[in-house]
Amino acid sequence: MRKKVEVLNERMNKQDDTADLAGRWGCLASPSPFLSDLVFTSASGSYVYDQKGRAYIDMISGISVSAVGHRNKHIGRALLRQWQAYSHVMVYGECVLPVQVAVADALVRTLPSACDWRVYLTPSGSEAVEGALKVAVRATGRTQLIACHKGYHGSTLGAMSLGSDETYKQAYRPLRPAVSFIRFGEMDDIAHIDKQVAAVFIEPVQGEAGVRQAPPHYFKALAERCTSVGALLIADEIQCGWGRTGTFWAFDALTFVPDILLTAKAFGGGMPLGAFVAPKAIMKTLAYAPPMGHLTTFGGHPMSCAASLASWQIIYRDALYKQVPARTKWWQKNLKHPLIKELRSAGLLMAMELDSAQHASAVLEAAKKHGLLMDSFLYCPEAIRIA
Ligand code: PMP
Repeated sequence: MRKKVEVLNERMNKQDDTADLAGRWGCLASPSPFLSDLVFTSASGSYVYDQKGRAYIDMISGISVSAVGHRNKHIGRALLRQWQAYSHVMVYGECVLPVQVAVADALVRTLPSACDWRVYLTPSGSEAVEGALKVAVRATGRTQLIACHKGYHGSTLGAMSLGSDETYKQAYRPLRPAVSFIRFGEMDDIAHIDKQVAAVFIEPVQGEAGVRQAPPHYFKALAERCTSVGALLIADEIQCGWGRTGTFWAFDALTFVPDILLTAKAFGGGMPLGAFVAPKAIMKTLAYAPPMGHLTTFGGHPMSCAASLASWQIIYRDALYKQVPARTKWWQKNLKHPLIKELRSAGLLMAMELDSAQHASAVLEAAKKHGLLMDSFLYCPEAIRIA
């Protein structure tokens, strides 16, 4: 008798059935995802191919993930080497895995050397946020948190509590209490940060708000206020870090150093990986009273670490990120159209804002027909994302 899996595989291989099957069995995140009519079967460099062999230029890198292109050969070789050694052997932190140590070492090399940084590897961005939230509460002995209007930090309950947009949150209450919000880039709001506050979460460049930036003097004042009241400043560089904006970390251009840094997305070189990073004095609290207060099975998965290290070699060691300003200029010079109200760019993280959300979705539909994969932003439907 044939196994059920054989029958299923056979069905999946029948080209026209696949999208239909995904619709029936997949649990979708929205009723009609924008790309749900596309079935991707391969990808290479800047291109993704559908089952009919049609090429699409990937203008968003899988939402800021595939920073060195799809199926990058250097990353592929690293993955193969790691697979030949091992894939998963033990849950995170229980033994020494050289590839995790190498990733932590590489990451720390990108940071200001004055700190005794410690790296905790996670499987995703949201879990990096959760870990940072917990360590901030432990390290300060405080419970109040502050985040920014139009900030996005992920979809797990703690991370969702830090998002300001009620549209996404209200159905999931109760969320974490004791979170309040300040306006991003508003000097006046900095005064709300007081001695009750454990941590302030901020994206150095707001991603889902549609690429919003604030000047260095804002971040300087924010960092000074946090230091003076004993609150930790947490930089969420999950979307804007790892070279995308033209400096390796977005905070490098903003004259402040965060107390805790969050990374994910491109950090994994196309594989799932995140991290929260802080000085030893902060991080050591996670190991005591109780020990094992933050655990993860798949954090720092060896395959993800191998890919991350290979991407670090290309982007940081071989300085790919230094090409970002020149490439950004090319986009700024060439992306001109009467419908474009504003082109906001933090290096190669860009928002092309049109006059309405309707026009933006019409452009997205037309782009898809012309073989361009694009998207808008969670909190800015009138803008089109390029990453
Ligand atoms: N923080 C920011 C700034 C993000 O852009 C995202 C993802 N869009 C997250 C956190 C959550 O990351 P993940 O989806 O990997 O959980």
